[in-house]
Parts: sequence; structure tokens; C-alpha cells
Amino acid sequence: MSVKIQPMVCGWLETAAAGILANEPGRLKLPIPSYLIEHPKGRVIFDTGLHRELQRDSSRIGPLAKAFTIEFHAGEELAGRLAARGVDPSRIDYMINSHLHFDHVGGNADLPNAKLVVQRREWEAGADPDLIRRNGYNRADFDLGHQLQLIDGEQDLFGDGSVVCLPTYGHTAGHQSLRVRTESGEFVMTADSCYMRKVLEEMVLPPFAFSYDAMREVIERYRKMERAGARLIFGHDAAQWRPDGSLAVPLA
Ligand SMILES: [Zn+2]
Repeated sequence: MSVKIQPMVCGWLETAAAGILANEPGRLKLPIPSYLIEHPKGRVIFDTGLHRELQRDSSRIGPLAKAFTIEFHAGEELAGRLAARGVDPSRIDYMINSHLHFDHVGGNADLPNAKLVVQRREWEAGADPDLIRRNGYNRADFDLGHQLQLIDGEQDLFGDGSVVCLPTYGHTAGHQSLRVRTESGEFVMTADSCYMRKVLEEMVLPPFAFSYDAMREVIERYRKMERAGARLIFGHDAAQWRPDGSLAVPLA
């Protein structure tokens, strides 16, 4: 059985570092990753990047548009990235959203036939008026009528341990990460439960969180996983990506 990961960058955001890591000076460039996981029993996308409309108009993200400079060009949207790999977006079986922030769900619209796999508590947060306001959730990004698979905690997607959703609550109410086992070993896509290596090593946390205690516990868990040999791919770590948009972490 062979499982393959194809990483894709679906645009970049540039923003004040202090908005991402508390008290951090300067500015940060953030890659917006999406991953295609090919399993003998189905094709999976983990996180879908930015909505293609953001290539020409930032008003879709409302007041957040003031905080972010968007670098996102035609062809870099999820459907374009898939087409360039010879993959028909209508033949993606599952899309897993780590959480419902705009830079993780924008390409959901590009995957008409995928079943949406999300933590139940994140889906419920996406319907809570207070959390919608605090998180800038835009239901037009994710409430698109896809078949839903709401999960509670760890979920082994194909029942063979190769593609497993890991509850990593804290960044948002129901954030999840993805563990993928390939012939080359174990990879964990942390998404925003750990933005970058500095968070892992120095426990520098964002200036906002649903639960800081939960975030710290998750980062301790990642430290153990890495010591045990897992390779971590962080949510928005420019150092893990090359300028041409390929991942610098060896996957084989
Ligand atoms: Zn993010």
C-alpha cells in the first residue's frame, strides 16, 4: 500500500509579526499550504488555502484585509494547483479542514464532490455568532452544502492508520491536525496549532487563542512526536518552503 503526500502553496500572506507571535517585531511572510494525500482508497485534501476571489479583491475578508498583504496569483488557487498536477478537483473524495479560518477553507468551493471532514466542535463554532465575529469566520467559505463528516477527536480516515485526524484544540475551539504515514515515515501537518518551528522550540504563542492551556499541551505533544521520529510540517513556516513553492522538508 502506498500513500503519497503532495504539498502545494496556495498563495502567501504578509503581515505584522506581532499579529502572529505575541510581541514579535517586524513582519512575516506566511505560506498558505494545502496538501493532496493520495491513498489507494481515495484522494484527500488537507486544508484548501485562500479563496480565488482574493486574487483580485481583498474585501472578502472584511476588516482583516487591513492586516494582511495578499500575494496570490492566478493558477495558485487549489483548483489550479491540482490541475497542474493532472488531478481533477471534482475527483477529490475528502477534504479535511484543520479549522475554519479564511486561509484554510477558501478552496472548499473548488472541490464540489468532496466529503468535508471537520471536528464537530469546530463546525459548531462556525455557527456561533460570537465566535464568527471573533474569528472572522465567513460561512460563505465553508457552508456550501458538501456532505459532512463531523468527528469528535481522533479519526482514522481509512481504518489503516495511514491518514489520521488528530484533535489539536486550542488555536480554535475544534482545531485538528493530520498525521500521515507513508513508506518514508510519519508526517504531521500541524496547521495553526503550531505556526512555525519557533513556536515549537520557544513556546511563543499567538496574541489570540481559544485556549492557551490547550495550545501548550498540544505543543508538548508535538515535541514528543518529533523526538520519536515524526517529521512536523508547520502551519505557516516560510523556512520550510522554497521560493518556487515546493516543500523543503524531504518527503521521501
Ligand atoms: Zn492559518
